[in-house]
Amino acid sequence: MGRNPDMTLLKKLPQIEEILHRPVIAALGSAVPHNQLVEAARAVVHTRRESILAGDVPVLDIDDIASETAQRVIDLGRPSLRRVVNASGVIIHTNLGRSVLADDAKAAVRDVIEGYSTLEYDIDTMSRGSRHDHYEALVCSLTGAEAAIAVNNNAAAVMLVLSEFAADHEAVISRGELVEIGGSFRVPDIMNQSRAKMVEVGTTNKTRVDDYERAITDDCAMLLKVHPSNYRMMGFTEDVGIAELRKLAEHVNEHRDRDSKVLIYEDQGSGAFVDLGSVEANLEHTVSESLGNGADLVSFSGDKLLGGPQAGIIVGSRILIDRLKENPLARVLRLDKMTLAALEATLRLYIDPEVAIAKVPTLRMLHEPADTVRSRASRLAEAIRASVPADDARIDVIPEVSRAGGGALPMCDIGTYVVEITFERGDAQGCETFLVQSCPIPIITRIKAEKVLCDARTILDDDELGIVADGISRYFTSIRGER
Ligand SMILES: *Cc1c(COP(=O)(O)O)cnc(C)c1O
Repeated sequence: MGRNPDMTLLKKLPQIEEILHRPVIAALGSAVPHNQLVEAARAVVHTRRESILAGDVPVLDIDDIASETAQRVIDLGRPSLRRVVNASGVIIHTNLGRSVLADDAKAAVRDVIEGYSTLEYDIDTMSRGSRHDHYEALVCSLTGAEAAIAVNNNAAAVMLVLSEFAADHEAVISRGELVEIGGSFRVPDIMNQSRAKMVEVGTTNKTRVDDYERAITDDCAMLLKVHPSNYRMMGFTEDVGIAELRKLAEHVNEHRDRDSKVLIYEDQGSGAFVDLGSVEANLEHTVSESLGNGADLVSFSGDKLLGGPQAGIIVGSRILIDRLKENPLARVLRLDKMTLAALEATLRLYIDPEVAIAKVPTLRMLHEPADTVRSRASRLAEAIRASVPADDARIDVIPEVSRAGGGALPMCDIGTYVVEITFERGDAQGCETFLVQSCPIPIITRIKAEKVLCDARTILDDDELGIVADGISRYFTSIRGER
């Protein structure tokens, strides 16, 4: 920057047709349409021109430009969103698509994309139906709620609830709950966007019921509780539960008419949908407990602890949920048929909790005993040893901890077994990068103390075990070739 551009360089930029005649382009074969090649070559030349105008001296060699053009075309042809193997041990991994769908959910999605569907068609009445009908009764029977609506994600659910019930009114929230949740969800920003007037109460570590009480004015529409997800305060802390807020709201609402009652809304985030035992015991409460304690509305994600597709589910009374359904935002944030199919099928598995634990991958991984994980880790270690000589690496099975991820259960250590690779040749960084960038199906591992760890808890099945073993074997082959 700041240098004077050398305008004579512009004349040295090659013609598009010249570029397309280079051998590296011909090697792409005739399957690539001509106009795609032209566009790619133009784009590459354009970046060279821009850099000349910025005062730089880029490489203007035609073969260099042709190679970059070819790479552009190859990159465009390769899917960007694709499957990976998760050997990281983070079960609800937000960067890796959070929950893996159950087989029943995959089958349901396949069925509705096979042709037309009953998305908004009621078989019984042979007339128009509602897309809410596919999940609402299931959600209600599983949580004890009177009504439910599902939208694009839980962030959308929060937005919808605040917009409908707190826009231009006050919503009271504890300073301890003004959190940011991974992936750019900040409670104050969402409140601002939905035009709710945020009234902060208490302090970062302590909020008491009289803090709420003092903050409630005639303009107050809502007491909002947000689950702090992946953030925890330890020690000298205090917060106010739903039951206490209910008592307070009852007191305030005595003096209000039916349409202006203060509502209690809890954003549960990961939402332990039903209490399935030991793992969920780490959560403060389930969705139905929040309702039972007096929350008017509760919302949670579909793809965190529930283990379904991306969605945000709001439960509450019929009157309140009907208002949400009629809000124009509900149309903006509505679910598509693939998501609805996956959601309905996932919910159906919860009718029998044992079936849910066995068949919903997120639940299965959370609940799988460490001994079962160990036998999978041992099989992986055997498969790796079979193709990686002992003087390349030492392969051990060692105890470690997996994480729930997705902001769920941050304090919960889930005992696991990992395959640990100690490098005699090569190194952990090189191997980790190779597994992601040079394998047909990228493999995500983690590094600890110069060793690569493959957590068997999040490796789904024997096929994936084979993929991981193969990737690691390829890595050692590749570095042998280098020398
Ligand atoms: C994860 C989370 C959200 C955002 O949910 P998405 O489904 O990712 O939109 C909102 N609130 C809380 C408390 C969360 O944990």
